[in-house]
Amino acid sequence: MGRLPDDLLGRAGYYQADASCVLVEGTWEAALASANTALDAMDRVLSGTNAVYALCRPPGHHACRDQAGGFCYLNNTAVAANWASSRGARVAIVDVDVHHGNGTQAIFYGRRDVLTVSVHGDPAWLYPYYAGYADETGAGIGEGFNSNLPVPLMSDGEAYLAALSAGCAAVRQFSPDLLIIALGLDASRDDPFACMAIDESGFGRMGRMLGMLSLPTLIVQEGGYPSPTLGQSLAAFLNGFGSR
Ligand SMILES: [Zn+2]
Repeated sequence: MGRLPDDLLGRAGYYQADASCVLVEGTWEAALASANTALDAMDRVLSGTNAVYALCRPPGHHACRDQAGGFCYLNNTAVAANWASSRGARVAIVDVDVHHGNGTQAIFYGRRDVLTVSVHGDPAWLYPYYAGYADETGAGIGEGFNSNLPVPLMSDGEAYLAALSAGCAAVRQFSPDLLIIALGLDASRDDPFACMAIDESGFGRMGRMLGMLSLPTLIVQEGGYPSPTLGQSLAAFLNGFGSR
């Protein structure tokens, strides 16, 4: 029914998609600082820096306009994309986190100025479960400007890269002024979520494929959880991107 209640507990539920986003002292300051990190990085891209990496924590891609979820409070990627778009840029977002970027999709679903592409594990078996399917392609004037590329769980780099290749083709067709990569590293075979099997070389190839789009690029950190190889996955991705 979607009614906003008066009670604080009811409101906490209204504005949250699940129970993963605890609110404690300092939560708002952290979420705001994370969004500002993405905005500052986007400012550098708009000012002519070719590629900038924003180490945003908490992450953002599961957050909708008015709803926190999946460890995300403010959608850092969407805030940066919206700001660039408001300054006249045509923006493409490619989300490679192992979980579908449902918040980002929801925010831009009815728009055609921002293309949203997400490569992720099949949501029939993986968070966010209720979105991320291939037949979600946008609505109204945004029809055709959202692309979901779900991959079977426990796939290796080959399957993930094949999906990403299709996503890159959609970006080329859209012909954007700039690219935002929502960089989740949780498709790693060593990630504690244990739902995909990408190794270091897979992340390197992923970075290289996105770098070859040859666009001014903002890279926003999304998911990726403690494992012995988390840092190596990031380094491999960034080195691949830089080797374009
Ligand atoms: Zn994730």
